[in-house]
Amino acid sequence: MSERKRAQLVGAGKSLERACLSCGMQHHQAAPDITDRAQDPACIKCDSPMFSLSDGSTVTVDIAHHHETVVKALEKFEYTLNQVWKQSHAGYLRLIVGGGLIRDAVLAELFFKKSRGTVLDFSEENRGALLIRIR
Ligand SMILES: [Zn+2]
Repeated sequence: MSERKRAQLVGAGKSLERACLSCGMQHHQAAPDITDRAQDPACIKCDSPMFSLSDGSTVTVDIAHHHETVVKALEKFEYTLNQVWKQSHAGYLRLIVGGGLIRDAVLAELFFKKSRGTVLDFSEENRGALLIRIR
């Protein structure tokens, strides 16, 4: 990862420029974590929710094929889920999990997250990929 990309990701946890998906107005404000999605701030111009509107796109991230341990893969999952929530309007996160222990651990976590309302739904696309609806 380049230094510039890393700086963008680090900075994104605190505040960011975010355009309203509905009217395009730029906002500079704190980005709520996905676990706080119920407190989605509204656009000051058109009152649309700033984070929960989906543009229908899918972000794909591999968390299982760089020699990750289960613990490391779960950390990557948590981080990725939050970043996609904060930095995009993607409707879906496709997680490449492989067919082993990482997949089982992420599925268990997803059952929990869905019961809490943190993710809206999820499905097993195939043996190695999970599709998570976040918006
Ligand atoms: Zn707006």
